[in-house]
Amino acid sequence: MTISLPPRPDVRADLTDRPRRTRRTPALRSLTREISLSAAQFIYPMFIHEGQDEQPIASMPGVSRYSVAGAVARVGEALSLGVNTVVLFGIPNSKDAQGTQAYADQGIVQVATRAIKAAHPGVSVIADTCLCEYTDHGHCGPLCEIGGEVTVDNDAALELLAHTAVSQARAGADIVAPSAMMDGQIGAIRTALDAAGFTHVPVMSYAVKYASAYYGPFRDAAGSTPSFGNRGGYQMDPAGGQARRRAGRGLPDGQAGAALPGRDPGDPRRLRPASGGLQRVGRVRDGQGRRGRWHARRAAHRAGDPDLVQARRGRRHHDLPRPGRRPLAARGRTGP
Ligand SMILES: [Zn+2]
Repeated sequence: MTISLPPRPDVRADLTDRPRRTRRTPALRSLTREISLSAAQFIYPMFIHEGQDEQPIASMPGVSRYSVAGAVARVGEALSLGVNTVVLFGIPNSKDAQGTQAYADQGIVQVATRAIKAAHPGVSVIADTCLCEYTDHGHCGPLCEIGGEVTVDNDAALELLAHTAVSQARAGADIVAPSAMMDGQIGAIRTALDAAGFTHVPVMSYAVKYASAYYGPFRDAAGSTPSFGNRGGYQMDPAGGQARRRAGRGLPDGQAGAALPGRDPGDPRRLRPASGGLQRVGRVRDGQGRRGRWHARRAAHRAGDPDLVQARRGRRHHDLPRPGRRPLAARGRTGP
């Protein structure tokens, strides 16, 4: 059957710009691709508990809590895949109001750090420096009452966070990573590390950490759900409307966080959750120049996007790993 088409208008006259030319083949696409992700750019988050078994985490399919021995084995696997850095979150057997297991010499993160470094000297260990996994109330520091409200005692928390960071460095942590969002935590930790002889240990703190419902699975994994209230009184407002403005700088939270007292401009910093907040990565990067670029990439992929990808996978809308790479590429686009 012959189909006769009406005469075609000449729509190509000015079409000299044809971006599809360089998208035509896989080889051409790989040649012109701007973002490449390598295993060495990733940090493997590990949850370590004091038992001997491997405990699958219901809210994070494919992720488990490991014993110290299990973690050592998994780090070996990660290294064989090219992932050279891990960040450790500890789940202690006993908790108390002061979170003493966070800074105990035989605390779970300290023990695990020593074991991992002894078995795999080539790995970089980052220790998450917070108290919420270790306090019986689940908040990020000891409590006090202000104006009839029970909240975290900021300055008392600083002291305990400084103790925690020093004990982690003493155990062999290559980087300490405060996540409590206490005012002055970076300066307090830097001062304590330097006084204890750990001037070489970077402090990888949050430039941006929003109070977020995205953290549900993480809290489940780390056993750090607050027993009352939430963390809105110390983590940042995701809408940013109440942006705490830094005196004399006039910067909203997201930018001010990148320039807090005590922070070495070359130190890495974190942003969480990256989902829905990638513009902040760009701002942190722009404010930090070249050295900030390394850092902006450390945008947490744990919270938010993995859940969405996994949920769709469960409904058979798609399969891993290709969709799982999309949010990672987004971080790469924003960060470099
Ligand atoms: Zn915390």
